[in-house]
Amino acid sequence: MATQDAGRAGHSCCWICGAQNLELVKPSNIGNLTSESFSITDSHYGVTGAIYRCSGCQFLQCSELSEVLPYYENLVDSAYDAGRPERSIQARRILELVPKLQPGGRLLDIGAGSGFLVEQAIQMGYEAEGIEPSSWLQKTAEQRGLRVHLGTFPHRAVTGLFDIITLIDVVEHVSQPLQLLRRIAEALHPDGMAVLVTPDVSSFAARVMGWKWWHFRVAHIGYFNQGNLFLALDKAGLLPILVRRPAWYFRAEYVWDRTHRYLPRILRMAPPHFLAGRVMPVNLRDSWLVICRVKANAHERRTAGSAA
Ligand SMILES: [Zn+2]
Repeated sequence: MATQDAGRAGHSCCWICGAQNLELVKPSNIGNLTSESFSITDSHYGVTGAIYRCSGCQFLQCSELSEVLPYYENLVDSAYDAGRPERSIQARRILELVPKLQPGGRLLDIGAGSGFLVEQAIQMGYEAEGIEPSSWLQKTAEQRGLRVHLGTFPHRAVTGLFDIITLIDVVEHVSQPLQLLRRIAEALHPDGMAVLVTPDVSSFAARVMGWKWWHFRVAHIGYFNQGNLFLALDKAGLLPILVRRPAWYFRAEYVWDRTHRYLPRILRMAPPHFLAGRVMPVNLRDSWLVICRVKANAHERRTAGSAA
């Protein structure tokens, strides 16, 4: 299968710094891969492809899973769309952190899912659109009247420059994170901003939980720490101007269910009634939210390139 050939080729170098010295730190424990393995609400924590660590920048990557796009294209995840109210709160909290630009600025959400961030952005006055590889999620967005294109970025229907590009929990899913960040820098206005959220593999929670950390899952094929995340942004021509530990918003029953998966079966209980319908913030301080501007020299290079 072409996937495996691509995987072998992907062994040879780090997706961030290009170093060739990668060490196997966790063997694969995945069975048969299906689109379901890539669902956003997947709860098989600790189940991943073989993870290699770069000796140069410490980036962790699943080199053999470098061709995962087909799984996303066929992804159906109704549990994810059922969480729309809480995911919408989360999207709004993220957008509220972005320094105000001119009203009606153009916003692009990459990995838009069923469009909850696009929807919030429109409500906040942005001219917003998104891109999503899963045709089921893209259709769900479209049925809500949201402008979400099917595919990946860059996309032929997405042209011109943007004021804001959001990449929320996406960069850990791609095998060419640096190229993606570079393309984002190129698609921003000189005073535009990129908003990125990704898990932090060097966080306290990740270190305590080891390979059982909830972000170790099949769909995550790259794992950043602060050092290599900032290295990637710098190489892409993006300059961090605001760094936060974002909270997630979940239904209380969902949090109850997910934390119970760490307990032996005999200790698991049904959620108490008083939790029904409640939405709560969860902040394990194990993700980064970084807002970046385009570095001045990156923009000059781009201008020089397009003039040539
Ligand atoms: Zn590296």
